[in-house]
Amino acid sequence: MYILLMGPPGAGKGTQAERLIEEYKIPHISTGDMFRAAVKQGTELGKEAKRYMDAGGLVPDAVTIGIVREGLAKPECAKGFILDGFPRTDEQAVALDDILNGLGIKMTGVINIVVPDADLVSRVTGRRICKNCGATYHVIYNPSKVDGVCDKCGGTLYQRDDDKEETVKNRLNAYHSQTVPLIEYYKQKGVYEEINGKQDIDKVYADVKSALESRM
Ligand code: ADP
Ligand code: ADP
Ligand code: ZN
Repeated sequence: MYILLMGPPGAGKGTQAERLIEEYKIPHISTGDMFRAAVKQGTELGKEAKRYMDAGGLVPDAVTIGIVREGLAKPECAKGFILDGFPRTDEQAVALDDILNGLGIKMTGVINIVVPDADLVSRVTGRRICKNCGATYHVIYNPSKVDGVCDKCGGTLYQRDDDKEETVKNRLNAYHSQTVPLIEYYKQKGVYEEINGKQDIDKVYADVKSALESRM
C-alpha cells in the first residue's frame, strides 16, 4: 500500500496516519516530523527548516525533496508507506514521480482530507503532541484521559511552536496558493480520492480505509 495523505494544516493527516500504520504495518514518512526531529537535534537542516516553519512558510523544495528521496529509498519502504505532508508544491510532485519511477513504485492512492478553513484554526491551536511517542491529541476534540499525559505511553504532551493562530493563517495561505493546485495534478493521474474530514475521527478513518481498499 503506497499512500499519499494530503490536506491543509490540521485536517487530520497525522491522526489518520497513526491508524493506518497500525492497520497496515507500513512506515510513516512525515516531512513535518522529519523537520521537527532535525530541529530538536540542532542539525544544519533543522536550523534552516525552523526559519520557515516558525513563519508558517514552506521549507525550500530542494531541501524537502532531498529528505524524502533519502527516506523512500530505505528498504523498509519497499513494501509500502504513508507519505504525509509531501508533496506540497508542483516541483515536489514532479520530483516524487521521478523518485517513485526510479523505485518502480506505483502510488495506490492520493487521499485528500478536506476540512473548511473555518475549522482549522481551532484544530491546530488545540493540538497537543506526545514528546515521547508522537501521538496526537486535541484539548477538546480528542483529549487524553489525563490532562497533559499521553494515553499510549505516559509521555508529556506539548504544543508545537508553530501551532499559533498567527502562524496558522500563513500556513493556510501557503496551502491554498501552493498545494491546492496539486489536486488537479492527481485527478488527472486517476489516483485522487477526496475524504470529508469534517466528521468524527473514526468515521474519517472508515472513509479513508474504504477509499484505499477500493483501489487495491
Ligand atoms: P501540518 O501537520 O500542520 O500540516 P506539518 O507537520 O506537515 O504541518 O508541517 C509543519 C511545517 O513543516 C510546515 O508548515 C512547513 O514549514 C514544513 N513542511 C512540512 N512539509 C513540507 C513540505 N512538503 N514542503 C515544505 N515545507 C514543509
Ligand atoms: P494534520 O496532520 O493534518 O496537521 P492532525 O492529525 O495533527 O492534522 O490533527 C490536527 C488536530 O485536530 C489534532 O489536535 C487532532 O487531534 C484533531 N483532529 C484530527 N482529526 C479530527 C477530526 N476528525 N475531528 C476533530 N478533530 C480532529
Ligand atoms: Zn505517547
